[in-house]
Amino acid sequence: MNSGKLNKLQTFLIATDKHRTWFVLFTIFILPSMYILVYLTDGTKNVYAHLTYIIIVFAGATLGFFGGLITGLAAGIMLGPFMPLDVANQIPQTFLNWSFRMLMFTFLGGLIGYITDTLRKSARIVLDLMCHNSETGLPNVNLLNNPDALSYDERNQMLITLLINNFDKIIDLMGLEVYYSLLRRIYEILRDGLPETALIVQCNNNKFWMATPLERPEEDIKKITAILKEGITIENVEYYIEFSLGYTFALNQKQSYRPGAFEKSDHAARYAQKNNLQYMLYRDDIKRGIFEAKLLADFTRALAGDELFLAYQPKVHLKTDKYDYLEALIRWDHPERGLLMPNDFIPLIEETQLIHELTEWVLRRVIEKIRELRKENYDVTISLNISVKNILDKNVVRRLAEIIDNNRDVVNNIEFEIMETILMETIDDTLETIEMYRNLGVAFAIDDFGKGYSSLLYLHRLPVECVKIDRGFTRNLTHDEASQKILQMVIRLCHALNYRVVIEGVEDETTAAIAKNLESDYAQGFYFARPIECGKILDWLKNKNRETSA
Ligand code: C2E
Ligand code: CA
Ligand code: CA
Repeated sequence: MNSGKLNKLQTFLIATDKHRTWFVLFTIFILPSMYILVYLTDGTKNVYAHLTYIIIVFAGATLGFFGGLITGLAAGIMLGPFMPLDVANQIPQTFLNWSFRMLMFTFLGGLIGYITDTLRKSARIVLDLMCHNSETGLPNVNLLNNPDALSYDERNQMLITLLINNFDKIIDLMGLEVYYSLLRRIYEILRDGLPETALIVQCNNNKFWMATPLERPEEDIKKITAILKEGITIENVEYYIEFSLGYTFALNQKQSYRPGAFEKSDHAARYAQKNNLQYMLYRDDIKRGIFEAKLLADFTRALAGDELFLAYQPKVHLKTDKYDYLEALIRWDHPERGLLMPNDFIPLIEETQLIHELTEWVLRRVIEKIRELRKENYDVTISLNISVKNILDKNVVRRLAEIIDNNRDVVNNIEFEIMETILMETIDDTLETIEMYRNLGVAFAIDDFGKGYSSLLYLHRLPVECVKIDRGFTRNLTHDEASQKILQMVIRLCHALNYRVVIEGVEDETTAAIAKNLESDYAQGFYFARPIECGKILDWLKNKNRETSA
């Protein structure tokens, strides 16, 4: 519904409500004036008494049923026994004459009042419907155009946009009805988490806007992030939403609640979404892409210099407790921004050719590291993350194959990790390349398995040696028996298909024990080891070795 129509409805509804006292006063003033006018124009034998209809219609339309009724009755009485038919000759009206007029006045006032009451009631219902989303029943953007329904907060505001990134997956998997229930739960959670005066509206299927008093913005955003990160349970099923938040400040209170005011938080949220960030404060350079341009220029410099380094996260072999398998994870020690994690820059780099240089850089370092550790008698396999963009580019495929081919002595210790969702989307175009690399001796692992939803159907088709089960699965293991059963089945299935299984994101002892029980081959996670800087990994392995042999 456009705001023009909404405004007309509002004018109709609010005008009468707000100015009711004035209308009452006006009616009280005009009625005796009418009496005087009719009296001075010689009584009811003249036509001026008919002007009273205007007053009665006006009163009915503005004051409703009782207002109209009373005004009609009062006017009827005034122009009744107290008003002569002919003032000059003092001839009174007949009883029938004035009582019939009084009845007509009362009836008309009541009727007009009743009609307007009914109209206003339905207008209110329409307004209410317009300000709420028809599927979820949650307040929508029209609420912002309806000052009547808003309680304005005098303080400066923080404006927040929440984007739900995995909404289409949830809808595909569970259907719209469940998704709408999920939106309602999200609304309740936000309502509970934000101050009472906060405004929350559902803009569209995957977007909420919030306006909340500006107090401790950073903390408030972290709080919202934390509550949304907890699983949301609907009909005993726990859902995890992937989301991005963008926020900005509105220091001019009058601006706060306009839909246009959320443009900046929208920009910031989209920026966060694109760059895999959880939240982002609006800055002018986001909009203009300067931020990206600068980061990309910096990255070119980083590749040539010594700002990039790898951290190696060990995976433990659960049967032997041996650490013979590492994952290489990129880190960027940025001179101005400090230590940047992959999620801060990889998504941006992936949109450019620089991702090819990065993968090549990582591959070379990994090869060096395998050799270096081998010299110290550690025969480790190291996996590295490659982007599907790498294997869609023929030149890059050739270049990486050359590097591998020139290092045949370590080729069996290299593994490429590739994300499940992306692999499945491009499998027809990538299968040949993957097979070519496998023929060279490089292993493949499917990363974040279980994050996509169609995985099981394709499991037997995956051109990989290893399946890494996503953190999302691991998170529930300790308190959810059903998850354990599903995981057990997945692991058995993987083993039947000859895949090695790694469980990711193991953060505590109980989960580690469960992973072992379910016969996963390897486990990876903070409980065993955090990613370790490249310079320290050898010492770490030596220490571990000493511990296990002691
Ligand atoms: P990933 O491949 O799934 O890597 C695992 C991520 O989970 C790492 O984050 C690791 O630090 C974190 N992690 C490990 N154990 C736990 C745990 O127990 N709990 C929790 N909460 N997290 C854990 P990191 O290093 O920030 O990397 C994030 C992502 O960036 C990686 O996810 C990977 O997709 C990408 N990435 C990292 N290095 C590279 C790279 O060299 N090239 C490419 N293309 N992508 C990379
Ligand atoms: Ca990985
Ligand atoms: Ca992973």
